[in-house]
Amino acid sequence: MAQTWKDTDISLDPIKDQTIAVIGYGIQGDAQANNMKDSGLNVIIGLKEGGNSWKKAEADGHKVMSVADATKQADIIHILIPDMIQGQVYKDEIGPNLSEGKALSFSHAAAIYWKWIEAPNNVDLIMIAPKGPGSKVRETFLDNFGTPAIVAVEQDFTGKAWDKTLGIAKAIGSARAGLIKTTFKEEVETDWFGEQADLCGGAASMVTNAFETLVEAGYQPEIAYFEVLHELKLIVDMIQRYGINGMWRRVSETARYGGLTRGPMVMDAANKENMKKVLTMIQDGTFNKEWISEYQKSGKDAFDKYMKQYDEHQIEKVGKQMRKMMWPDSTE
Ligand code: NDP
Ligand code: MG
Ligand code: MG
Repeated sequence: MAQTWKDTDISLDPIKDQTIAVIGYGIQGDAQANNMKDSGLNVIIGLKEGGNSWKKAEADGHKVMSVADATKQADIIHILIPDMIQGQVYKDEIGPNLSEGKALSFSHAAAIYWKWIEAPNNVDLIMIAPKGPGSKVRETFLDNFGTPAIVAVEQDFTGKAWDKTLGIAKAIGSARAGLIKTTFKEEVETDWFGEQADLCGGAASMVTNAFETLVEAGYQPEIAYFEVLHELKLIVDMIQRYGINGMWRRVSETARYGGLTRGPMVMDAANKENMKKVLTMIQDGTFNKEWISEYQKSGKDAFDKYMKQYDEHQIEKVGKQMRKMMWPDSTE
């Protein structure tokens, strides 16, 4: 059984006199910085001058400074800028201003695990990864709850790394929803596998294949969209809340029998073999190498060229119309 912690297991005392620099004020940075501040911690924000976030962080009442100054002033440097720039920002601004006994903290372990950042031996390396987007991290905190997180210590130079990790997790509200112990390696590999094979990649491809199957068989695209894409959320919500059998118990008997017997025909052994290949490409570093090289070569185009194929696909064209019908006032 994995090790877990609840809110009452943790004290903020070990970090209440420390300064925490949140580097970046975007999706996670904004939410986590405000939660920590509301929890009574000393938070400062490190940003690049001239960027959009500086004014926003100041308007929200934070003390804002350059990444270099924030690194100098803080005991814990919590790095919440996009993963692909962490290596460069570390090299230019964080590394040169780091000193013994400080902590480098993350919400995703990739930069350390794949050595985009080569951290020294005389600091703590810790991770608090909320399992939800920044908007949820803030909303659930304001509701006196939190977003669950997985936590890890990669390097415990001071012997206090776990106090810092758990303290931050408590301050951002995550301990109220539950913390699970992981490692940097496990977080990176399972996070990437989930988003590639199942959540983003797998789900998008499964829905597209199902849509094409119905439309190619002569069914109306609008009906196909409803059946295979729109309703997916209702099923996923049930699986999240009640588990797989909880979902089966809540759908019609025909859906239950049909799904239980046909699901494995669609997602069969060959599909699982392909998942294993995708996992191996993550574990052996093939994906990391490819992603870094594509990002360096073409930046945003590394994904834009694939997204363009979706833009041109009927599922997106029909989807736009359908969503306009269901949510007339919202923009995409
Ligand atoms: P964002 O893309 O939202 O980060 C943008 C922020 O970084 C902005 O405040 C931006 O400032 C700032 N920034 C950009 N470049 C620099 C720079 N050179 N120096 C200083 N600040 C800079 O990141 P996320 O919140 O999505 O991700 C942060 C971390 O959290 C990542 O490690 C990610 O994997 C992890 N994570 C993210 C989740 C999510 O919900 N998105 C979920 C769980 C983990 P400006 O606006 O001024 O350019
Ligand atoms: Mg993830
Ligand atoms: Mg991820």
